[in-house]
Amino acid sequence: MTGESSLRADIVEVGRRMYARGYTASNDGNISVRLGSDRLLMTPKSVCKGFMTPDMMCITDLDGRKLQGDRDPSSETLMHLEVYRQRPDVQAVVHAHPPTATGFAVAGIPLDRAVLAEVLTTLGSIPLAEYATPSTSELPEAVRKYIKAHDGMLLANHGALTVGGDLYGAYYKMETIEHFAKISLVARLLGRENLLSREEVMRLQDLRGSYGIKAPAPICADDDAQASGEPAVCQVVQAPQGAGSRLVPDILRRAVSPTHSAQTDAEGEIRLTYRELSALIEDAIRSLR
Ligand SMILES: [Zn+2]
Repeated sequence: MTGESSLRADIVEVGRRMYARGYTASNDGNISVRLGSDRLLMTPKSVCKGFMTPDMMCITDLDGRKLQGDRDPSSETLMHLEVYRQRPDVQAVVHAHPPTATGFAVAGIPLDRAVLAEVLTTLGSIPLAEYATPSTSELPEAVRKYIKAHDGMLLANHGALTVGGDLYGAYYKMETIEHFAKISLVARLLGRENLLSREEVMRLQDLRGSYGIKAPAPICADDDAQASGEPAVCQVVQAPQGAGSRLVPDILRRAVSPTHSAQTDAEGEIRLTYRELSALIEDAIRSLR
């Protein structure tokens, strides 16, 4: 198979998987890949992504003009073009409406909490791009704010967008977003979503290098970065200052407090009552959960 026919076959397969997993209904969603340096291979408009054939794809230039194909390119071509313009490293773009992630997008809730190590190392955070009318130039405008720093984002009241160094890389990020959304939803329904500490998040960021993960921007756990970000320059993650590193100093401060029953001797030894020791152990267990 030539490069082009293999890419056509890959688009068909990714479309089939998206439809089989319920990430798209009816004719929703769209997929594109770079074809050399100046052309794109794009899914056509108004076809179900679960039942495409390789000959259906359109070839366009980087301005979206159709060069080849019996059908017209996707109605979201403008969004794809914007991604390729902003990200020369991106080889493929996937857009779908996976129901749980889209539920978060409808509720206006980004998936930006430090919860799962795998999500932090691959995507960092998944921000929420502002609502824009689909298929208009508003949508690329909304995507532009985050695309330089993110490989995946939610689109308010619409769906999700992922990009990658190849088509399967982009598609797997869509799977990761929907999987993460489901886990986040269950944790919130259970009433508790324990976050990883800022220190742990930074440790995971360091692991990106050893895993060979190429992220477009570093993770930052800083609200200031979020406030100044237009466009975003880092992947803002909500993570508390490490409870683990504060635990002992807090207990020590309490232990030496004059109002407290614990005492220290001249050697710096700390004496705790049984109740204080139990509280210390309970705190430690809580921070491990
Ligand atoms: Zn859509």
